[in-house]
Amino acid sequence: MSDELHFDLTLYPEPILRKRAEPISAFDSALKRTVVAMYERMFESKGVGLAAPQVGLKQRILVVNPTGDRKDDLTLVNPTISAKAGDDTLFEEGCLSFPGIYAEIKRPERCTVVAFDVDGNRIEKEFDGFVARIIQHEFDHLEGVLLVDRMSPTDKLKNRGALEELVERYQRRLRKSAAQG
Ligand code: ZN
Repeated sequence: MSDELHFDLTLYPEPILRKRAEPISAFDSALKRTVVAMYERMFESKGVGLAAPQVGLKQRILVVNPTGDRKDDLTLVNPTISAKAGDDTLFEEGCLSFPGIYAEIKRPERCTVVAFDVDGNRIEKEFDGFVARIIQHEFDHLEGVLLVDRMSPTDKLKNRGALEELVERYQRRLRKSAAQG
């Protein structure tokens, strides 16, 4: 028997993606298993960051890895962004909860994060470039803020068909589970 967790991705417009996630209070084995399974899900889906609400958990946990090299794993529990700095830059973002959708999003170049690692050690660090971008995107997920909220009207129009398709897929899943229920 395996005690490993396996997570499926939560896709837009699942309601949990709109909820504010809750702080972790125990740095225990359950948290460690969750984090291991989040990395597994992220790497399988070829993502560079994943927030717990994206696997259906209302918890303030982020996993980040900009390169795919395991030495670059960055686990942030109960993170806060204490400062942002640098110029606002535009960069194309995707999101595992919005398959096939990309949009140019404006964010500051640098951010300072205060968080805890999986063992409960405090981390305070300034990040820049791609990692700072990923952290800001994933942090949004903990507040229920999504790619679609930050898109320009042009990108919204460009992605309108794909967004509608996601909503239709969600409604089909709801009807299916109601029929089975
Ligand atoms: Zn995302």
